[in-house]
Amino acid sequence: MFNKELEVTLHKASTDQMKQKPDQSNLGFGQIFTDHMFTMRWTRQDGWHKAAIEPYDNFIVDPAAMVFHYGQAIFEGMKAYRGKDDQIFLFRPADNLNRMNQSAVRMCMPRFPQDRVLQALRAMVYLDQEWVPGTEGASLYIRPTMIASEPALGLRPAEEYIFFIICCPVGAYYAEGFSPTKIYVEDEFVRAVPGGVGNAKTAGNYAASLKAQLNAHDKGYTQVLWLDAIEHRYVEEVGTSNIFFLIEGELITPPLEGSILPGITRDSVLQLARDWGYQVSERRITIDEVLAAGKSGALKESFGTGTAAVISPVGEFCYKEQCVQINGGAAGDLAKRLYDELQAIQFGYQEDPHKWRVRVG
Ligand SMILES: *Cc1c(COP(=O)(O)O)cnc(C)c1O
Repeated sequence: MFNKELEVTLHKASTDQMKQKPDQSNLGFGQIFTDHMFTMRWTRQDGWHKAAIEPYDNFIVDPAAMVFHYGQAIFEGMKAYRGKDDQIFLFRPADNLNRMNQSAVRMCMPRFPQDRVLQALRAMVYLDQEWVPGTEGASLYIRPTMIASEPALGLRPAEEYIFFIICCPVGAYYAEGFSPTKIYVEDEFVRAVPGGVGNAKTAGNYAASLKAQLNAHDKGYTQVLWLDAIEHRYVEEVGTSNIFFLIEGELITPPLEGSILPGITRDSVLQLARDWGYQVSERRITIDEVLAAGKSGALKESFGTGTAAVISPVGEFCYKEQCVQINGGAAGDLAKRLYDELQAIQFGYQEDPHKWRVRVG
């Protein structure tokens, strides 16, 4: 299906199709979209075809499209940064596209040619470069998505798909400072089960997580900490981020055993911590171990990792009736150092020994 080189056509937005750029000091998240999008189609007959960078617009989808009924939908989240000397960089984009193909395989969706899509993405970000904000900490969020578009109600993998990429300028995540979160340890609802789809970035996982998220918000918490689905003991993730604990000198994150999303920020943090000489463990950790370490003072730090926030320090965990505060509720030194280092690499102000940065243009 990849024997034919995928052609990408370019339809530039006309001046009257171009939108007014938003106020850079008040961008929010995910409500404003750039002038262009990338789309391509897949059918069993023709493979990937009709690839185009075109003006951002609605597209027509049949109400019987299988995505609406059986949920074959996968996505990615990555960013472009305007950094040193006004250069624009992507951060590990090939890893995102590779992960998307892994999600595709899990959801019985077609794989796509990663190199061609990355080329098209770079061209599109270049075309929309004025949309990449220049204010501190802001970036262009990039959302590749694939949905089953075949109109049919029989339950089986669809034979038609739409792949698209849309982009939106987003403000600095920590507009009000690098402030720690208060986390509710969820002991009833679960995010993912062994053998399920927790390691795929598929839409249903996020729909399934809303109830717990809402409950936690109502009780005054920022996010939920997810425990494993079988024993409700092993820590898995925090909200839609991977989770880390620094206990004495050991940096711990749960292993990728199928129910955890393999985060690219997670991988970058593991690499940096190893570079800096930390003892790093990808191992199972129970909520009891976390609470005990919290009480004894051995738990020095905890933080979530993900593209949106990069590093999100945890100030407090509450499980059933018990709460433990970490580092007096303040962000820890390692969390700060990781955040600063990753941002410096992402924005081009720091050497990039692992070749994570990709320049656009
Ligand atoms: C996207 C995501 C992450 C973070 O992945 P990054 O590649 O670091 O952005 C972690 N957990 C879940 C459930 C996610 O969807």
